[in-house]
Amino acid sequence: MRYGLISDIHANLEALETVLSELEKAGVDAVFCLGDIVGYGPDPEKCVELVRTNSKLTIAGNHDHAILGMIDTRYFNDYAKKSVEWTKVQLSQSSIDFLHGLPLIAKEENFTIVHASPARPEAWNYILSVDDASDNFTFIQGITCFVGHSHVPIILEKNYDETVSIIRKFELELLQDKQYIINIGSVGQPRDLDPRAAYAIFDSETCEFGLKRVRYDMSKTQKKIIERGLPAYLAERLSTGQ
Ligand code: ZN
Repeated sequence: MRYGLISDIHANLEALETVLSELEKAGVDAVFCLGDIVGYGPDPEKCVELVRTNSKLTIAGNHDHAILGMIDTRYFNDYAKKSVEWTKVQLSQSSIDFLHGLPLIAKEENFTIVHASPARPEAWNYILSVDDASDNFTFIQGITCFVGHSHVPIILEKNYDETVSIIRKFELELLQDKQYIINIGSVGQPRDLDPRAAYAIFDSETCEFGLKRVRYDMSKTQKKIIERGLPAYLAERLSTGQ
């Protein structure tokens, strides 16, 4: 099976539509979403609807839980807090029910998917380094775990001697006797200084993985952020990808 993997859409409809159309062109067998459908962006309801109809398996993110009042947002930055309050009143009851029903972690074929970390999905810990990753490998079912959350793509590989290294390329064949944690980046708010929407394709038979980038109509999203009264910084950061 060839899987299209998306994460951290953050209510960016233009980025989501563009990525879904790329995945359709690529002819993937199924799309999976790793969470944070909402928060920050101007189109939460439409993005939830699109994910519901296009994603075969969707995992909950911390922003999805924040909208539902399931996590303490005191530690969110001001922009995130403001967008949580705004988003709460934009969603239909059926979208809220959908977000409520999302699991925190799932396994499919030879891989695991989770929003933040497989060791403690509900703690929303970031995996940004070799040290962050080390304790997580024992919680992975299969060859790899795909994650989101940081909005920064990274591939961490567990070697034969149990050490972990960072792989500096985004197209590779995963080796059956190794294990990986792969952050697939963000569709709607990339933070790796590349403003293009990020997504991934994984072939569970050949174990080929590819991280992809695509341009979308960002100015349309930015205009809506301003028009809907969300913080201007949320529009500006899309241009710089940070
Ligand atoms: Zn996110």
